[in-house]
Amino acid sequence: MFIDLHTHSNASDGTDSPAELVRAAAAAGLDVVAITDHDTTGGWEQAAAARLPTLGLIRGSEFSTQVKAGGYAHSIHLLGYLFDPQNPAVVHEQARLKAERLRRGLAIVERMVQGGLPITAEQVLEIAGDAPVGRPHIGRALVASGVVASVDEAFASHLSGRGPYYVQKVDTDLKVAVAMITAAGGASVIAHPRGRGERRALSAELIGELAEIGLTGLEVDHPDHGPSERAELREIAAKHHLLTTGSSDYHGHNKKLVLGQESTAPEVLESLIAATSGVTEPLVG
Ligand code: AMP
Ligand code: ZN
Repeated sequence: MFIDLHTHSNASDGTDSPAELVRAAAAAGLDVVAITDHDTTGGWEQAAAARLPTLGLIRGSEFSTQVKAGGYAHSIHLLGYLFDPQNPAVVHEQARLKAERLRRGLAIVERMVQGGLPITAEQVLEIAGDAPVGRPHIGRALVASGVVASVDEAFASHLSGRGPYYVQKVDTDLKVAVAMITAAGGASVIAHPRGRGERRALSAELIGELAEIGLTGLEVDHPDHGPSERAELREIAAKHHLLTTGSSDYHGHNKKLVLGQESTAPEVLESLIAATSGVTEPLVG
């Protein structure tokens, strides 16, 4: 069984439509793929309509969360799986985050326009379509306008969190998000817990506290983790009886990652499904 539990479609900031993502996952030889768009399950219906007999589909979402430490809100991504997408708290929070992403995306674009960059809000909104606005959409506008050659280059320069155009968004408190996913019958897994500066906010102690309030696992095998990060996370997971998953974090053409680049063991997926309360089942053909 070849399992990838973290992928993005153009329902958030990937470039494949949900149906294209399903076909690409099958072509990559995957047996199971989870669709985990940022702050939305909006791609699910289209993905489910394109389902194939050979590919299990898992509905998920990557929630934007934050941990306050040292007077600063650190961004932590939390993967939720098989939660009830109609759960009122989830629906409310995803709507709030979509509005917050729009506000913040427009604020970044305004700073760029004032700085003389040749992009417009309309251009970014057209690229985003119905998806919650993310920096990769702005990156694609910068590429289309000839400011940078690639979205990667945009992230290294104009979109950098340390750059002059950056505006923070107000994300969900991490503990609140874990509790919310648990209450909605889902499983929760911290995405790339050592990938992008999370270490400053996400101590082993905090992971232990999250395990006590329902956290299901840690995404250990992720392209942003080296051998030492993986070893550390495996140790923390073992101590707190957390599952360890592996996934590509595929974004289509926005990032140079391939489906199935990292994968999850079948027995881990079984335990993850067992941790949910069966509100939604994984969908096969
Ligand atoms: P945002 O959520 O709007 O702050 O944008 C951050 C998201 O952009 C991350 O969650 C990744 O999905 C994506 N991202 C980060 N780095 C890159 C990159 N170099 N190229 C494309 N997408 C990226
Ligand atoms: Zn992701």
